[in-house]
Amino acid sequence: MESSDSVRVAVNIRPLITTELLNGCTDCITVVPGEPQVQIGTHSFTYDYVYGGEGTPSSSIYDDCAAPLVDALFDGYNATVLAYGQTGSGKTYTMGTDYNGEEGNGGIIPKVMETIFTRVEEMKNSTEFLIRVSFIEIFKEEVFDLLDTKPTALGRRQIQIRETGSGGITLSGVTETQVWTKEEMASNLARGSLSRATGSTNMNSQSSRSHAIFTISMEQKKIASCLSGVNNDISDDILCAKLHLVDLAGSERAKRTGANGLQLKEGININKGLLALGNVISALGDEKKRKEGGHVPYRDSKLTRLLQRLSASTKG
Ligand code: ADP
Ligand code: MG
Repeated sequence: MESSDSVRVAVNIRPLITTELLNGCTDCITVVPGEPQVQIGTHSFTYDYVYGGEGTPSSSIYDDCAAPLVDALFDGYNATVLAYGQTGSGKTYTMGTDYNGEEGNGGIIPKVMETIFTRVEEMKNSTEFLIRVSFIEIFKEEVFDLLDTKPTALGRRQIQIRETGSGGITLSGVTETQVWTKEEMASNLARGSLSRATGSTNMNSQSSRSHAIFTISMEQKKIASCLSGVNNDISDDILCAKLHLVDLAGSERAKRTGANGLQLKEGININKGLLALGNVISALGDEKKRKEGGHVPYRDSKLTRLLQRLSASTKG
């Protein structure tokens, strides 16, 4: 991948929802026809892709933004999809994080799952796959395991980030569930989403203040008998890669999260992740800085530390 391609940004404009229409809200965004550009008042902004505005199809969002990353996963490359925006802007809808197995959810994650298992099925005579999922939540700079089947009496178990000898990062004790079918993968997603929603006393506030990361990890091994000129060294080669699908905390600013001190603290902590993410993405997107081996401030938050070793690709 070209370095200039390492981060791509798409905007998905959602239609006004019923309550907004009832309140007399009107669209304030216009899309420049044929251009990935939006206009708000006298300001215009250009992205890699724009979807959902008047006259732009939203159906190609998966094909344009996520399908290449699924291809990359099969080729052994890591990738990340991030949904960024304020609460209510459509992050969960666009990602499909709350997918419950029903048909008709147009979200990215359900299509990712479908594509992966269609391909695995096609390749099963030549390749062995080991596919695992994990699902974690970062809330107030603490990491929780959404797939933990045995939460303690005190609530969900907190997970520690550990550095490995080789400079990598692991989440010690995080549940990594092996899955064989799309349905199994979907049921893990649904279970984790439920745990995210019910894990707090105030579900709306928590899910809008936390980052949820659904990770699909894939290991592939060529089946030896399928290799021409059988060579055991080659058949031992395992290709590993991960795809992170992230539903970020709402991007509303700390000062709008309420007067109460605790709420304010939460807002500030969450902004720490989003702020660090912004800094990391601008460092990665700055070609000049990259060429000079410039500093990428991954260590400033849990979110960026976790996504650290990945070549990020973004949509929001
Ligand atoms: P967020 O996760 O960013 O807080 P949601 O995904 O929950 O936002 O979306 C807020 C509301 O808008 C939901 O009722 C959702 O169904 C609706 N919505 C979001 N995006 C779209 C879209 N592209 N088309 C139609 N409805 C949408
Ligand atoms: Mg949401």
